[in-house]
Parts: sequence; structure tokens; C-alpha cells
Amino acid sequence: TTQCLAEAIQICHKLRQAGHVAYFAGGCVRDAMLGREPKDFDVATDATPDRVREIFGKRKTLAIGAAFGVIAVLPHLAQATEQPTAQATEQANHPTGDQHGRQGIEPIEVATFRSDGEYLDGRRPSKVRYGDARHDALRRDFTINGMFFDPDANQVIDFVGGRDDLQRQMLRTIGDAEQRFEEDKLRMLRAVRFTCTLGFTLDAAALQQIQRQASEITVVSDERIGAEMRRVVAAPRTTVGLELLRLTNLHRHVLPSLQDAEWEPLAKLLQARERFEFETSLTLLIMALHVDQPARDQTLHGLTKRWRLSNEEVRRIRSAMRWHGVVMDAEKKPWSAVQPVLVDRDIDAIMSVARSVITANQQDRSGYERCLQALAWQPQQLDPCPLLSGDDLKAAGYRPGRQFKDALQAVRAAQLDGEIDSGQQALSLAAKYLD
Ligand code: ATP
Ligand code: MG
Repeated sequence: TTQCLAEAIQICHKLRQAGHVAYFAGGCVRDAMLGREPKDFDVATDATPDRVREIFGKRKTLAIGAAFGVIAVLPHLAQATEQPTAQATEQANHPTGDQHGRQGIEPIEVATFRSDGEYLDGRRPSKVRYGDARHDALRRDFTINGMFFDPDANQVIDFVGGRDDLQRQMLRTIGDAEQRFEEDKLRMLRAVRFTCTLGFTLDAAALQQIQRQASEITVVSDERIGAEMRRVVAAPRTTVGLELLRLTNLHRHVLPSLQDAEWEPLAKLLQARERFEFETSLTLLIMALHVDQPARDQTLHGLTKRWRLSNEEVRRIRSAMRWHGVVMDAEKKPWSAVQPVLVDRDIDAIMSVARSVITANQQDRSGYERCLQALAWQPQQLDPCPLLSGDDLKAAGYRPGRQFKDALQAVRAAQLDGEIDSGQQALSLAAKYLD
């Protein structure tokens, strides 16, 4: 982030030297004023997109959102450094995030000040007109998102009363709530998202308008709904978000099964989370919504498609739903039933859900603690080499067949449970399963 900040400052500086106005804009100003680390730094300027490309050079820019006046300026400060940043490492795990391969620093988005024309489809303006900073502030969604920061003068520029609303912790639309939600339906869900992620209060006029227009959220693509809902679900105050979804009636459209939820257990589960990853949160949510497994599977399946969950996310959620009970009951089960869960690749998700359920219901922790201890063991203690393999059986003269699996499984269980500890014992146990 420090790198990005330095880049963004440089970009503003260069635009200014070329005779333009250039500010930090939107979310990064809000986050910085709240003492939070901004995710990214967006720059807004009175230079037109063509001018921006001229100033930074065609090869250092990408016309990513040319229709909306957004040009991506590739980082240039970073080119000297060879060291991979934390962000670069993270991006290596999410290759889609980095199409530019510049030491992992995201390009900075430079947007020309604009005012939006009429909204005809409830999603985007039919045309945009370039304008000045004030108009650009007025087209933004919420007052707290509508401020600029001038890095040269070290000064916040606030045309919309964002500073006061930040102070009062209030989420309010810029201008008339009815019109602003009618223009762009996604803003309804963004309102819920910002309210719960920031722990703010939603302004009464905004709430009322969302209640009125909730059903029209369906004009927004599932993908964008999913992107917002991910953030609502993973927020520390998910219960606030879900309550708002219910209060506004948005839930009928974005989380249809929520109306059947038993509210109290759901709130308890979510409040018991210590970690706010999406997967843990969504697992707890689905578990609270549905007592029975088939209904859970169905809900997960529906959300997977609509919210575009990745295969990995689905796998982790499934594992956590399926196996957290084994962790909780570990004291009552033979080790051979517990150990396979502990060596599961998704054990962190499983443990996280188990811990939340135990905390929420004030259940016995001993099984969980036992697993926690075992997870700190040396790898060969937690997952010892098998005493016997299929090859060993072949070498002993057995012909491969269906019983191999049963035999090996029985041997493995006996080994883990400490009933046998030599190859000889393993072989004689296996013999009972083989002809
Ligand atoms: P974050 O990046 O944490 O999600 P953000 O406020 O930066 O928060 P973005 O979606 O990145 O949100 O948008 C950047 C800015 O663009 C916002 O701060 C806001 O000023 C403006 N904006 C984004 N979406 C809309 C919208 N649907 N309607 C009006 N203005 C919007
Ligand atoms: Mg942003």
C-alpha cells in the first residue's frame, strides 16, 4: 500500500505539473480519514482521458474504462525494485488479479472528473460528460465516498458533507435518496455493505427508499450482487448486514432462504466468529439457515452459481460443514476417525467453524482442544508412514483385488489407534481380510 500511495502521489504531482487539477478520490479518502488502510488509491483529475495518456505515455497507460473516462496508469516507481512485495506474492496466488506483471503493484486508476447523464436501465448512465471536481463529487453514491484529497495541499475537499457524516458515522446518499437509488439499483446493496462493514447507521431516508425499491435489485447482475454479498457476509458485523437486508426486504432477492432462518442461532453463530473469512462466515450462515443437510447442500449449490463461488471455496465450505462435528467430538471418537480430518487440506476452515459453534453454544471444548494440540505435533507423529502398502501385499503374494482397500483401511485404523506397530502385525491383520 505504501508503494501504491507513493505511485498515486507521483501521478497527482505529474498531472499538476502538466497544468491540471488532480486529487485522490472516493474510497481511499474515506478509509484514510477513518484511519483504515485503503485498498487502493484512485485519482480524479480534470485532464481528459486523451490528455492523461499523452502525459504518461501510451505504453504506460491502459484505456480500461475509456467510456467512463478511466485510464489505468501503470506503476513506474516500482520498476527499479526487484524484490517481490507481499502484494505480488498474494497476486501470484490469484493470477487473474495481475495482467500487467509489474512487480505486482496494481495500476492506479485515473478518472476524469465527470457528471453522469441520465440513467435509463437502473444500472449505468446512458452517457457521461466531463466536468469539474464538484460535479464529480455529486455523481458519487454516498457522502462518505464523495470526498477528495489534495496531496499537494494536504487538504480534504468536501462538496457533499462527507466529513460530518463520517464523524456522525452515518451513511447518507448524496442528494435525493429516491433518485439516487432509482438511478443505480446496486447502490441499495452497497448501502447495506458500507453500513455493516463500517459499523455506521443507515440514514432514515435511504432506508425508506431501499425498502420501497428493493425488488428492483434484480436488474443488477448476479456477479455484482455476489461481490457485495461476499463483503456483507464476511463483515465483523454480519448480523447488522443481515438485519438490514431483512429490514429493507432485499433479502428476498439476494438471500431467499433468509426468511426461514432461526434468527437467534444465526446471530449467535456469527457473533462467535473470531476470524472473518468469507468461507467460515458463509458456512455458519448456511448451517444456521438449515437444520438438515440436503437443504444446506441446496443452498450452497444455489449460492455457488449466483455468487460465483470458486471450486476451492465450495470445497472448503463443504469440508467445514461435514467435518467440524468430528473435531468437536474428538474426545469420544477413536483416533482413526479423527486423524483423517486433521490431515485434510481444509483443516483450518474446519477448525474455524468448530470453534465458532462451540463458542456460540457454550459446548464442551475438550475435543477441539485435543485436535488443536495434535495439529501442533511433528508431521510424522500426526500422519505416520503407513505400516503396510498395496505393494507390500503384492510382495507377500496376494493378488490385487477389491479386498485390498478394506484390508489396508483396517490396518491403517489399527495403526492410528495404537493397536499394532509393526509390519508383521500389519500383515497378519491384513490376512484376515484377504483370501
Ligand atoms: P471499496 O474499494 O472498499 O469497495 P470504494 O468506496 O473505493 O470502496 P469502489 O467500488 O472502489 O468503492 O468505488 C470507488 C468510488 O466510486 C466510490 O467511493 C464512489 O465514490 C464511487 N462509486 C462506486 N460505485 C458507485 C455507484 N454505484 N454509484 C455512484 N458512485 C459510485
Ligand atoms: Mg475502491
